[in-house]
Amino acid sequence: FVHQLADESVGMDELLISPLRLEPQPSLPLPADLYGPKRANSQGLDLAVASMREPLLAALASTPVPTMPEASTAEAEAACAKAVAAFAGWNHTPVAERAATLRRAADALQQQLPRFCALLVKEAYKTWGDAVSEVREAVDFLRFYANDAERVMAPQTLPGPTGESNTLRLEGRGAWVCISPWNFPLAIFMGQVAAALATGNTVLAKPAEQTPAVALEAVKLLHAAGVPANALQLLHGPGETVGASLVAQPGIAGVVFTGSTQVAKIIQRALAAKDGAIVPLIAETGGINAMLVDSTALPEQVADAVVQSAFRSAGQRCSALRLLCLHEGIADHVIEMIQGAAKELVAGSPAALATDLGPVIDAEAFEGIGRHLTRLHAEAKPLLPAAAPATTLPNLIPPQMFEVKAIAEVKAEIFGPVLQVVRWGGDPMDVIRQINALGYGLTLGIQTRIDSRAQALAAAARVGNVYVNRNMIGAVVGVQPFGGEGLSGTGPKAGGPNYLLRFCAEQTLTINT
Ligand code: NAD
Repeated sequence: FVHQLADESVGMDELLISPLRLEPQPSLPLPADLYGPKRANSQGLDLAVASMREPLLAALASTPVPTMPEASTAEAEAACAKAVAAFAGWNHTPVAERAATLRRAADALQQQLPRFCALLVKEAYKTWGDAVSEVREAVDFLRFYANDAERVMAPQTLPGPTGESNTLRLEGRGAWVCISPWNFPLAIFMGQVAAALATGNTVLAKPAEQTPAVALEAVKLLHAAGVPANALQLLHGPGETVGASLVAQPGIAGVVFTGSTQVAKIIQRALAAKDGAIVPLIAETGGINAMLVDSTALPEQVADAVVQSAFRSAGQRCSALRLLCLHEGIADHVIEMIQGAAKELVAGSPAALATDLGPVIDAEAFEGIGRHLTRLHAEAKPLLPAAAPATTLPNLIPPQMFEVKAIAEVKAEIFGPVLQVVRWGGDPMDVIRQINALGYGLTLGIQTRIDSRAQALAAAARVGNVYVNRNMIGAVVGVQPFGGEGLSGTGPKAGGPNYLLRFCAEQTLTINT
Protein backbone atom coordinates (compact mmCIF):
# COMPACT_ATOMS: atom_id res chain seq x y z
CA PHE A 1 0.00 0.00 0.00
CA VAL A 2 2.79 2.46 0.94
CA HIS A 3 4.56 1.36 -2.23
CA GLN A 4 1.50 2.41 -4.25
CA LEU A 5 1.70 5.88 -2.73
CA ALA A 6 5.34 6.44 -3.62
CA ASP A 7 4.64 8.10 -6.96
CA GLU A 8 1.90 10.38 -5.62
CA SER A 9 4.12 12.61 -3.44
CA VAL A 10 2.25 11.88 -0.21
CA GLY A 11 4.13 12.42 3.07
CA MET A 12 3.83 9.76 5.79
CA ASP A 13 2.15 12.30 8.08
CA GLU A 14 -0.75 12.43 5.64
CA LEU A 15 -1.47 8.73 5.91
CA LEU A 16 -4.54 9.10 8.06
CA ILE A 17 -6.61 6.33 6.63
CA SER A 18 -10.37 6.85 6.65
CA PRO A 19 -12.48 3.96 7.83
CA LEU A 20 -14.29 2.13 5.05
CA ARG A 21 -17.74 3.67 4.52
CA LEU A 22 -19.99 1.93 2.08
CA GLU A 23 -23.37 3.19 3.26
CA PRO A 24 -23.58 6.99 3.58
CA GLN A 25 -26.31 8.12 5.96
CA PRO A 26 -28.07 11.50 6.25
CA SER A 27 -26.30 13.33 9.08
CA LEU A 28 -29.35 15.03 10.61
CA PRO A 29 -32.28 13.44 12.42
CA LEU A 30 -35.16 13.32 9.95
CA PRO A 31 -38.90 12.80 10.34
CA ALA A 32 -39.50 9.08 10.16
CA ASP A 33 -42.06 9.30 7.37
CA LEU A 34 -39.96 11.51 5.13
CA TYR A 35 -37.13 9.20 4.17
CA GLY A 36 -37.62 5.48 3.79
CA PRO A 37 -35.04 2.91 2.70
CA LYS A 38 -33.61 3.91 -0.66
CA ARG A 39 -30.67 1.52 -1.10
CA ALA A 40 -30.52 -1.49 -3.34
CA ASN A 41 -30.35 -4.98 -1.87
CA SER A 42 -27.92 -7.63 -3.02
CA GLN A 43 -30.26 -8.76 -5.81
CA GLY A 44 -30.19 -5.26 -7.25
CA LEU A 45 -33.82 -4.62 -6.25
CA ASP A 46 -34.61 -1.56 -4.20
CA LEU A 47 -35.89 -2.72 -0.83
CA ALA A 48 -38.83 -0.34 -1.01
CA VAL A 49 -39.78 -1.66 -4.44
CA ALA A 50 -39.54 -5.26 -3.31
CA SER A 51 -41.85 -4.59 -0.36
CA MET A 52 -44.41 -2.78 -2.57
CA ARG A 53 -44.35 -5.24 -5.44
CA GLU A 54 -48.08 -6.02 -5.58
CA PRO A 55 -49.50 -2.44 -5.43
CA LEU A 56 -46.89 -1.23 -7.93
CA LEU A 57 -47.68 -3.91 -10.47
CA ALA A 58 -51.42 -3.40 -9.98
CA ALA A 59 -50.97 0.34 -10.61
CA LEU A 60 -49.03 -0.38 -13.79
CA ALA A 61 -51.99 -2.27 -15.21
CA SER A 62 -54.66 0.23 -14.14
CA THR A 63 -52.99 3.66 -14.64
CA PRO A 64 -53.73 5.29 -18.01
CA VAL A 65 -51.31 7.88 -19.40
CA PRO A 66 -53.48 10.94 -20.09
CA THR A 67 -52.82 13.09 -23.14
CA MET A 68 -52.74 16.88 -23.20
CA PRO A 69 -53.20 19.37 -26.03
CA GLU A 70 -50.36 21.77 -26.83
CA ALA A 71 -50.87 25.38 -25.78
CA SER A 72 -50.95 28.10 -28.43
CA THR A 73 -49.15 31.43 -28.16
CA ALA A 74 -52.50 33.14 -27.49
CA GLU A 75 -53.15 30.69 -24.63
CA ALA A 76 -49.72 31.40 -23.15
CA GLU A 77 -50.52 35.11 -23.25
CA ALA A 78 -53.94 34.64 -21.62
CA ALA A 79 -52.48 32.36 -18.93
CA CYS A 80 -49.88 34.97 -18.09
CA ALA A 81 -52.56 37.64 -17.65
CA LYS A 82 -54.47 35.34 -15.29
CA ALA A 83 -51.31 34.51 -13.31
CA VAL A 84 -50.50 38.21 -12.91
CA ALA A 85 -54.08 38.93 -11.75
CA ALA A 86 -54.04 36.01 -9.27
CA PHE A 87 -50.76 37.11 -7.68
CA ALA A 88 -52.12 39.59 -5.12
CA GLY A 89 -54.58 37.06 -3.66
CA TRP A 90 -52.09 34.20 -3.34
CA ASN A 91 -49.28 36.47 -2.13
CA HIS A 92 -51.52 37.84 0.64
CA THR A 93 -52.60 34.36 1.72
CA PRO A 94 -50.71 33.81 5.00
CA VAL A 95 -47.54 31.77 4.51
CA ALA A 96 -48.80 29.22 7.08
CA GLU A 97 -51.87 28.62 4.91
CA ARG A 98 -49.81 28.25 1.72
CA ALA A 99 -47.51 25.83 3.57
CA ALA A 100 -50.49 23.81 4.84
CA THR A 101 -51.74 23.51 1.24
CA LEU A 102 -48.38 22.12 0.11
CA ARG A 103 -48.32 19.67 3.03
CA ARG A 104 -51.77 18.42 2.02
CA ALA A 105 -50.39 17.88 -1.50
CA ALA A 106 -47.41 15.98 -0.02
CA ASP A 107 -49.73 13.69 1.95
CA ALA A 108 -51.85 13.02 -1.15
CA LEU A 109 -48.78 12.29 -3.27
CA GLN A 110 -47.43 9.89 -0.66
CA GLN A 111 -50.78 8.08 -0.62
CA GLN A 112 -50.81 7.86 -4.43
CA LEU A 113 -47.21 6.66 -4.73
CA PRO A 114 -47.99 3.50 -6.76
CA ARG A 115 -50.07 5.45 -9.31
CA PHE A 116 -47.39 8.12 -9.81
CA CYS A 117 -44.69 5.42 -10.03
CA ALA A 118 -46.70 3.69 -12.75
CA LEU A 119 -46.93 6.97 -14.68
CA LEU A 120 -43.17 7.48 -14.37
CA VAL A 121 -42.49 3.96 -15.62
CA LYS A 122 -44.90 4.32 -18.55
CA GLU A 123 -44.17 7.88 -19.66
CA ALA A 124 -40.51 8.42 -18.68
CA TYR A 125 -39.29 4.77 -18.77
CA LYS A 126 -38.11 4.96 -15.17
CA THR A 127 -37.17 1.72 -13.48
CA TRP A 128 -39.30 0.95 -10.43
CA GLY A 129 -36.45 1.82 -8.05
CA ASP A 130 -35.94 5.20 -9.70
CA ALA A 131 -39.69 5.85 -9.78
CA VAL A 132 -40.13 5.19 -6.05
CA SER A 133 -37.13 7.43 -5.25
CA GLU A 134 -38.51 10.17 -7.48
CA VAL A 135 -41.99 10.22 -5.91
CA ARG A 136 -40.36 10.39 -2.49
CA GLU A 137 -38.14 13.25 -3.60
CA ALA A 138 -41.19 15.18 -4.83
CA VAL A 139 -42.87 14.62 -1.44
CA ASP A 140 -39.68 15.81 0.27
CA PHE A 141 -39.61 19.00 -1.84
CA LEU A 142 -43.22 19.83 -0.96
CA ARG A 143 -42.63 19.39 2.77
CA PHE A 144 -39.20 21.03 2.80
CA TYR A 145 -40.29 24.19 0.96
CA ALA A 146 -43.49 24.40 3.04
CA ASN A 147 -41.41 24.36 6.23
CA ASP A 148 -38.69 26.60 4.85
CA ALA A 149 -41.11 29.26 3.58
CA GLU A 150 -42.44 29.64 7.12
CA ARG A 151 -38.84 30.02 8.34
CA VAL A 152 -37.49 32.50 5.77
CA MET A 153 -40.64 34.60 5.40
CA ALA A 154 -41.06 35.42 9.08
CA PRO A 155 -40.53 39.22 9.38
CA GLN A 156 -37.23 40.16 10.99
CA THR A 157 -36.79 43.12 13.28
CA LEU A 158 -33.30 44.54 12.86
CA PRO A 159 -32.19 46.33 16.03
CA GLY A 160 -29.49 48.99 15.51
CA PRO A 161 -28.15 52.42 16.24
CA THR A 162 -30.65 54.50 14.20
CA GLY A 163 -33.26 54.92 16.93
CA GLU A 164 -35.91 53.87 14.38
CA SER A 165 -37.90 50.68 13.92
CA ASN A 166 -36.36 48.63 11.08
CA THR A 167 -38.11 45.53 9.77
CA LEU A 168 -37.17 43.29 6.85
CA ARG A 169 -40.04 41.44 5.26
CA LEU A 170 -40.23 39.06 2.34
CA GLU A 171 -43.00 38.39 -0.14
CA GLY A 172 -43.50 36.85 -3.57
CA ARG A 173 -42.25 38.62 -6.72
CA GLY A 174 -45.15 37.87 -9.09
CA ALA A 175 -45.82 35.33 -11.84
CA TRP A 176 -42.97 32.82 -12.33
CA VAL A 177 -42.34 30.65 -15.37
CA CYS A 178 -41.19 27.17 -14.27
CA ILE A 179 -39.53 25.19 -17.09
CA SER A 180 -38.51 21.62 -16.31
CA PRO A 181 -36.78 18.65 -18.02
CA TRP A 182 -38.03 15.12 -18.71
CA ASN A 183 -35.39 13.29 -16.67
CA PHE A 184 -37.06 14.07 -13.30
CA PRO A 185 -40.52 14.91 -14.61
CA LEU A 186 -42.12 14.77 -11.16
CA ALA A 187 -39.41 15.72 -8.63
CA ILE A 188 -37.90 18.69 -10.49
CA PHE A 189 -41.29 19.86 -11.75
CA MET A 190 -42.72 19.70 -8.23
CA GLY A 191 -39.63 21.27 -6.63
CA GLN A 192 -39.74 24.34 -8.88
CA VAL A 193 -43.50 24.77 -8.54
CA ALA A 194 -43.55 24.21 -4.76
CA ALA A 195 -40.75 26.74 -4.18
CA ALA A 196 -42.52 29.42 -6.21
CA LEU A 197 -45.93 28.76 -4.64
CA ALA A 198 -44.64 28.53 -1.06
CA THR A 199 -43.17 32.02 -1.34
CA GLY A 200 -46.40 33.59 -2.64
CA ASN A 201 -45.71 33.60 -6.38
CA THR A 202 -48.12 32.38 -9.03
CA VAL A 203 -46.87 29.83 -11.55
CA LEU A 204 -46.92 29.17 -15.29
CA ALA A 205 -45.52 25.64 -15.49
CA LYS A 206 -44.00 24.35 -18.76
CA PRO A 207 -42.97 20.70 -18.39
CA ALA A 208 -40.79 18.91 -20.94
CA GLU A 209 -42.73 17.95 -24.06
CA GLN A 210 -41.77 14.28 -23.53
CA THR A 211 -43.51 14.03 -20.10
CA PRO A 212 -46.72 16.07 -19.95
CA ALA A 213 -48.88 13.41 -18.25
CA VAL A 214 -46.84 13.27 -15.04
CA ALA A 215 -47.00 17.09 -14.86
CA LEU A 216 -50.75 17.11 -15.51
CA GLU A 217 -51.39 14.69 -12.65
CA ALA A 218 -49.09 16.68 -10.34
CA VAL A 219 -50.99 19.89 -11.10
CA LYS A 220 -54.37 18.19 -10.50
CA LEU A 221 -53.06 17.01 -7.13
CA LEU A 222 -51.94 20.55 -6.17
CA HIS A 223 -55.29 22.03 -7.22
CA ALA A 224 -57.14 19.38 -5.21
CA ALA A 225 -54.99 20.28 -2.19
CA GLY A 226 -56.18 23.91 -2.44
CA VAL A 227 -53.88 25.82 -4.82
CA PRO A 228 -56.19 28.20 -6.77
CA ALA A 229 -56.55 27.36 -10.48
CA ASN A 230 -55.11 30.67 -11.69
CA ALA A 231 -52.22 30.54 -9.20
CA LEU A 232 -50.93 27.42 -10.97
CA GLN A 233 -51.46 26.90 -14.69
CA LEU A 234 -49.95 24.21 -16.86
CA LEU A 235 -48.90 24.84 -20.45
CA HIS A 236 -47.77 21.89 -22.48
CA GLY A 237 -45.81 22.08 -25.75
CA PRO A 238 -42.37 22.46 -27.34
CA GLY A 239 -39.83 24.64 -25.59
CA GLU A 240 -38.98 26.56 -28.76
CA THR A 241 -42.58 27.79 -29.08
CA VAL A 242 -44.56 27.53 -25.81
CA GLY A 243 -41.51 27.89 -23.52
CA ALA A 244 -40.11 30.79 -25.53
CA SER A 245 -43.45 32.60 -25.63
CA LEU A 246 -43.83 32.32 -21.83
CA VAL A 247 -40.33 33.71 -21.31
CA ALA A 248 -41.19 36.59 -23.65
CA GLN A 249 -44.35 37.62 -21.75
CA PRO A 250 -43.96 41.17 -20.42
CA GLY A 251 -45.75 40.44 -17.11
CA ILE A 252 -43.52 37.68 -15.71
CA ALA A 253 -41.47 38.25 -12.56
CA GLY A 254 -38.95 35.39 -12.80
CA VAL A 255 -37.92 32.20 -14.60
CA VAL A 256 -36.71 29.00 -12.97
CA PHE A 257 -35.24 26.61 -15.51
CA THR A 258 -33.73 23.14 -15.28
CA GLY A 259 -32.33 21.65 -18.48
CA SER A 260 -29.43 22.01 -20.86
CA THR A 261 -26.80 24.75 -20.65
CA GLN A 262 -27.56 25.69 -24.25
CA VAL A 263 -31.27 26.41 -23.57
CA ALA A 264 -30.42 28.26 -20.32
CA LYS A 265 -28.34 30.66 -22.40
CA ILE A 266 -31.15 31.12 -24.94
CA ILE A 267 -33.51 32.04 -22.08
CA GLN A 268 -30.93 34.35 -20.49
CA ARG A 269 -30.52 36.23 -23.79
CA ALA A 270 -34.31 36.44 -24.30
CA LEU A 271 -34.80 37.90 -20.82
CA ALA A 272 -31.98 40.40 -21.30
CA ALA A 273 -33.48 41.59 -24.60
CA LYS A 274 -36.89 42.39 -23.06
CA ASP A 275 -38.04 45.88 -22.18
CA GLY A 276 -39.18 46.61 -18.64
CA ALA A 277 -38.09 45.16 -15.31
CA ILE A 278 -34.95 43.04 -14.92
CA VAL A 279 -36.27 39.47 -14.67
CA PRO A 280 -34.22 37.03 -12.55
CA LEU A 281 -33.28 33.59 -13.91
CA ILE A 282 -32.48 30.56 -11.81
CA ALA A 283 -30.81 28.02 -14.12
CA GLU A 284 -29.85 24.48 -13.15
CA THR A 285 -28.05 22.85 -16.07
CA GLY A 286 -25.77 20.02 -17.19
CA GLY A 287 -22.27 18.90 -16.29
CA ILE A 288 -19.21 16.92 -17.30
CA ASN A 289 -19.01 15.31 -13.89
CA ALA A 290 -15.72 13.66 -12.95
CA MET A 291 -14.56 11.20 -10.31
CA LEU A 292 -10.93 11.30 -9.21
CA VAL A 293 -9.60 7.98 -7.89
CA ASP A 294 -6.17 7.82 -6.26
CA SER A 295 -4.10 4.72 -5.56
CA THR A 296 -5.30 4.41 -1.96
CA ALA A 297 -8.95 4.03 -2.97
CA LEU A 298 -10.76 0.76 -2.36
CA PRO A 299 -11.37 -0.87 -5.77
CA GLU A 300 -14.65 -2.57 -4.70
CA GLN A 301 -16.03 0.72 -3.43
CA VAL A 302 -14.90 2.52 -6.60
CA ALA A 303 -16.47 -0.07 -8.91
CA ASP A 304 -19.81 0.06 -7.08
CA ALA A 305 -19.83 3.89 -7.01
CA VAL A 306 -18.92 4.10 -10.72
CA VAL A 307 -21.58 1.66 -11.86
CA GLN A 308 -24.27 3.43 -9.80
CA SER A 309 -23.17 6.92 -10.85
CA ALA A 310 -22.55 6.34 -14.56
CA PHE A 311 -25.17 3.77 -15.54
CA ARG A 312 -28.13 3.97 -13.13
CA SER A 313 -31.13 5.72 -14.76
CA ALA A 314 -29.35 4.96 -18.07
CA GLY A 315 -26.99 7.84 -17.25
CA GLN A 316 -29.84 10.32 -17.63
CA ARG A 317 -29.13 12.25 -14.45
CA CYS A 318 -27.51 15.67 -14.45
CA SER A 319 -25.32 14.47 -11.56
CA ALA A 320 -24.20 11.30 -13.40
CA LEU A 321 -20.54 10.39 -13.71
CA ARG A 322 -19.15 11.15 -17.20
CA LEU A 323 -15.37 11.18 -16.72
CA LEU A 324 -13.50 8.71 -14.53
CA CYS A 325 -9.92 9.78 -13.69
CA LEU A 326 -8.05 6.68 -12.48
CA HIS A 327 -4.58 6.66 -10.96
CA GLU A 328 -2.34 4.68 -13.31
CA GLY A 329 -1.23 2.38 -10.46
CA ILE A 330 -4.69 0.84 -10.02
CA ALA A 331 -6.37 1.68 -13.34
CA ASP A 332 -6.23 -1.80 -14.92
CA HIS A 333 -7.57 -3.51 -11.79
CA VAL A 334 -10.43 -1.00 -11.34
CA ILE A 335 -11.40 -1.09 -15.03
CA GLU A 336 -11.60 -4.87 -14.85
CA MET A 337 -13.87 -4.67 -11.79
CA ILE A 338 -16.16 -2.09 -13.44
CA GLN A 339 -16.37 -4.25 -16.57
CA GLY A 340 -17.39 -7.22 -14.42
CA ALA A 341 -19.99 -5.25 -12.46
CA ALA A 342 -21.44 -3.49 -15.52
CA LYS A 343 -21.92 -6.78 -17.32
CA GLU A 344 -24.21 -7.90 -14.48
CA LEU A 345 -26.60 -4.99 -15.07
CA VAL A 346 -29.91 -5.93 -16.66
CA ALA A 347 -30.80 -3.60 -19.55
CA GLY A 348 -34.43 -4.04 -20.58
CA SER A 349 -38.04 -3.04 -20.11
CA PRO A 350 -38.51 -0.60 -17.23
CA ALA A 351 -41.75 -2.38 -16.28
CA ALA A 352 -39.81 -5.50 -15.24
CA LEU A 353 -38.88 -5.39 -11.55
CA ALA A 354 -35.35 -6.73 -12.12
CA THR A 355 -34.37 -4.13 -14.74
CA ASP A 356 -31.43 -1.92 -13.80
CA LEU A 357 -31.33 0.14 -16.98
CA GLY A 358 -34.29 1.13 -19.16
CA PRO A 359 -34.26 2.73 -22.63
CA VAL A 360 -33.23 6.37 -23.11
CA ILE A 361 -36.09 8.83 -23.35
CA ASP A 362 -36.73 8.91 -27.12
CA ALA A 363 -35.38 8.24 -30.61
CA GLU A 364 -33.83 11.72 -30.82
CA ALA A 365 -31.80 11.10 -27.64
CA PHE A 366 -30.88 7.61 -28.89
CA GLU A 367 -29.58 9.04 -32.18
CA GLY A 368 -27.70 11.88 -30.46
CA ILE A 369 -25.92 9.46 -28.11
CA GLY A 370 -25.29 7.19 -31.13
CA ARG A 371 -23.40 10.00 -32.91
CA HIS A 372 -21.14 10.42 -29.86
CA LEU A 373 -20.58 6.63 -29.75
CA THR A 374 -19.55 6.58 -33.43
CA ARG A 375 -17.04 9.36 -32.75
CA LEU A 376 -15.72 7.63 -29.61
CA HIS A 377 -15.30 4.32 -31.45
CA ALA A 378 -13.09 6.17 -33.96
CA GLU A 379 -11.10 8.23 -31.44
CA ALA A 380 -10.94 6.21 -28.20
CA LYS A 381 -10.41 2.68 -26.91
CA PRO A 382 -13.72 0.85 -26.21
CA LEU A 383 -13.84 -0.96 -22.83
CA LEU A 384 -17.58 -1.83 -22.75
CA PRO A 385 -19.96 -3.38 -23.76
CA ALA A 386 -18.82 -6.90 -24.43
CA ALA A 387 -22.14 -7.88 -26.00
CA ALA A 388 -25.40 -6.28 -27.15
CA PRO A 389 -28.41 -6.75 -24.80
CA ALA A 390 -30.68 -9.69 -25.57
CA THR A 391 -33.73 -7.57 -26.42
CA THR A 392 -35.14 -5.66 -29.35
CA LEU A 393 -36.62 -2.90 -27.18
CA PRO A 394 -36.18 0.45 -29.00
CA ASN A 395 -33.78 3.11 -27.71
CA LEU A 396 -31.97 0.75 -25.35
CA ILE A 397 -28.27 1.49 -24.86
CA PRO A 398 -26.26 -0.90 -22.67
CA PRO A 399 -23.46 0.59 -20.49
CA GLN A 400 -20.63 2.02 -22.62
CA MET A 401 -17.08 2.78 -21.49
CA PHE A 402 -14.16 4.25 -23.48
CA GLU A 403 -10.60 5.12 -22.56
CA VAL A 404 -9.52 8.57 -23.76
CA LYS A 405 -6.05 10.08 -23.67
CA ALA A 406 -6.68 13.40 -21.96
CA ILE A 407 -9.32 15.17 -19.86
CA ALA A 408 -9.39 18.05 -22.34
CA GLU A 409 -10.68 15.64 -25.02
CA VAL A 410 -14.01 15.36 -23.16
CA LYS A 411 -15.88 18.35 -24.48
CA ALA A 412 -19.62 17.65 -24.23
CA GLU A 413 -22.10 16.22 -21.75
CA ILE A 414 -23.31 12.90 -23.24
CA PHE A 415 -26.70 12.41 -21.58
CA GLY A 416 -26.76 8.61 -21.52
CA PRO A 417 -24.95 5.54 -20.11
CA VAL A 418 -21.56 6.50 -21.56
CA LEU A 419 -18.45 6.73 -19.38
CA GLN A 420 -15.07 8.07 -20.47
CA VAL A 421 -11.98 6.97 -18.56
CA VAL A 422 -8.59 8.67 -18.38
CA ARG A 423 -5.42 7.61 -16.52
CA TRP A 424 -3.36 10.02 -14.46
CA GLY A 425 -0.08 10.04 -12.53
CA GLY A 426 1.73 12.68 -10.47
CA ASP A 427 -0.11 15.42 -8.58
CA PRO A 428 -3.90 14.97 -8.16
CA MET A 429 -4.25 18.75 -7.88
CA ASP A 430 -3.30 18.94 -11.59
CA VAL A 431 -6.22 16.63 -12.34
CA ILE A 432 -8.60 18.93 -10.47
CA ARG A 433 -7.21 21.93 -12.40
CA GLN A 434 -7.92 20.15 -15.70
CA ILE A 435 -11.45 19.23 -14.57
CA ASN A 436 -12.06 22.86 -13.54
CA ALA A 437 -10.85 23.96 -16.98
CA LEU A 438 -13.78 22.12 -18.63
CA GLY A 439 -15.95 24.98 -17.35
CA TYR A 440 -18.78 22.93 -15.85
CA GLY A 441 -19.21 22.61 -12.11
CA LEU A 442 -21.97 20.27 -10.97
CA THR A 443 -20.76 17.13 -9.17
CA LEU A 444 -17.34 15.65 -8.38
CA GLY A 445 -16.48 12.28 -6.85
CA ILE A 446 -13.28 11.73 -4.89
CA GLN A 447 -12.10 8.27 -3.92
CA THR A 448 -9.17 8.27 -1.50
CA ARG A 449 -8.42 7.06 1.99
CA ILE A 450 -6.31 10.12 2.75
CA ASP A 451 -8.62 12.53 4.55
CA SER A 452 -6.42 15.60 4.15
CA ARG A 453 -6.20 14.97 0.39
CA ALA A 454 -9.98 14.65 0.05
CA GLN A 455 -10.44 17.96 1.87
CA ALA A 456 -7.79 19.77 -0.23
CA LEU A 457 -9.10 18.47 -3.56
CA ALA A 458 -12.70 19.33 -2.65
CA ALA A 459 -11.64 22.86 -1.70
CA ALA A 460 -9.83 23.34 -5.03
CA ALA A 461 -12.69 21.99 -7.16
CA ARG A 462 -15.07 24.51 -8.74
CA VAL A 463 -18.18 22.34 -8.34
CA GLY A 464 -21.44 22.50 -6.43
CA ASN A 465 -21.55 18.99 -4.91
CA VAL A 466 -18.57 16.84 -3.89
CA TYR A 467 -19.03 13.20 -2.89
CA VAL A 468 -16.17 11.41 -1.13
CA ASN A 469 -15.89 7.61 -1.09
CA ARG A 470 -19.45 6.99 -2.35
CA ASN A 471 -21.54 7.38 -5.48
CA MET A 472 -22.34 10.84 -6.89
CA ILE A 473 -26.10 10.68 -7.37
CA GLY A 474 -29.31 11.01 -5.36
CA ALA A 475 -28.88 14.22 -3.33
CA VAL A 476 -31.26 14.18 -0.35
CA VAL A 477 -33.59 17.20 -0.10
CA GLY A 478 -32.84 19.35 2.94
CA VAL A 479 -29.50 17.80 3.87
CA GLN A 480 -27.61 17.69 0.56
CA PRO A 481 -28.56 20.97 -1.21
CA PHE A 482 -27.98 20.43 -4.93
CA GLY A 483 -26.81 22.62 -7.81
CA GLY A 484 -23.77 23.75 -9.74
CA GLU A 485 -21.78 26.73 -10.94
CA GLY A 486 -20.15 27.90 -14.17
CA LEU A 487 -21.74 26.18 -17.19
CA SER A 488 -23.74 24.04 -14.71
CA GLY A 489 -25.99 26.74 -13.33
CA THR A 490 -26.56 29.95 -11.49
CA GLY A 491 -27.41 28.61 -8.03
CA PRO A 492 -28.93 28.81 -5.44
CA LYS A 493 -29.09 25.15 -4.56
CA ALA A 494 -32.38 23.26 -4.78
CA GLY A 495 -33.42 21.71 -1.48
CA GLY A 496 -31.12 24.03 0.47
CA PRO A 497 -31.63 26.85 2.96
CA ASN A 498 -30.94 29.66 0.44
CA TYR A 499 -33.17 28.53 -2.43
CA LEU A 500 -36.44 30.23 -1.50
CA LEU A 501 -34.79 33.62 -0.98
CA ARG A 502 -34.33 33.99 -4.75
CA PHE A 503 -38.09 33.66 -5.28
CA CYS A 504 -38.77 36.52 -2.85
CA ALA A 505 -38.85 40.30 -3.04
CA GLU A 506 -37.43 41.95 0.10
CA GLN A 507 -38.73 45.13 1.66
CA THR A 508 -37.09 47.07 4.47
CA LEU A 509 -39.61 49.10 6.45
CA THR A 510 -38.10 51.94 8.47
CA ILE A 511 -40.40 53.87 10.83
CA ASN A 512 -39.29 56.96 12.73
CA THR A 513 -40.65 56.08 16.15
P1 NAD B 1 -33.64 20.88 -22.56
O1 NAD B 1 -32.80 22.06 -22.26
O2 NAD B 1 -33.70 20.39 -23.94
O3 NAD B 1 -35.17 21.15 -22.14
C1 NAD B 1 -35.49 21.57 -20.82
C2 NAD B 1 -36.81 22.33 -20.87
O4 NAD B 1 -36.61 23.55 -21.61
C3 NAD B 1 -37.94 21.58 -21.58
O5 NAD B 1 -39.16 21.83 -20.89
C4 NAD B 1 -37.96 22.25 -22.95
O6 NAD B 1 -39.23 22.17 -23.57
C5 NAD B 1 -37.62 23.69 -22.59
N1 NAD B 1 -37.09 24.51 -23.68
C6 NAD B 1 -36.38 24.10 -24.76
N2 NAD B 1 -36.08 25.16 -25.55
C7 NAD B 1 -36.61 26.26 -24.97
C8 NAD B 1 -36.64 27.65 -25.29
N3 NAD B 1 -36.05 28.12 -26.39
N4 NAD B 1 -37.26 28.50 -24.45
C9 NAD B 1 -37.86 28.04 -23.32
N5 NAD B 1 -37.88 26.74 -22.97
C10 NAD B 1 -37.26 25.86 -23.77
O7 NAD B 1 -33.15 19.73 -21.53
P2 NAD B 1 -33.69 18.24 -21.40
O8 NAD B 1 -33.17 17.45 -22.56
O9 NAD B 1 -35.14 18.23 -21.12
O10 NAD B 1 -32.96 17.77 -20.05
C11 NAD B 1 -31.65 17.28 -20.01
C12 NAD B 1 -30.68 18.35 -19.55
O11 NAD B 1 -31.10 18.85 -18.28
C13 NAD B 1 -29.28 17.82 -19.33
O12 NAD B 1 -28.35 18.75 -19.82
C14 NAD B 1 -29.18 17.71 -17.81
O13 NAD B 1 -27.86 17.75 -17.32
C15 NAD B 1 -30.00 18.89 -17.38
N6 NAD B 1 -30.47 18.75 -16.00
C16 NAD B 1 -29.92 19.51 -15.01
C17 NAD B 1 -30.33 19.37 -13.69
C18 NAD B 1 -29.74 20.18 -12.56
O14 NAD B 1 -30.32 20.20 -11.48
N7 NAD B 1 -28.62 20.84 -12.76
C19 NAD B 1 -31.32 18.43 -13.39
C20 NAD B 1 -31.86 17.66 -14.42
C21 NAD B 1 -31.44 17.83 -15.73
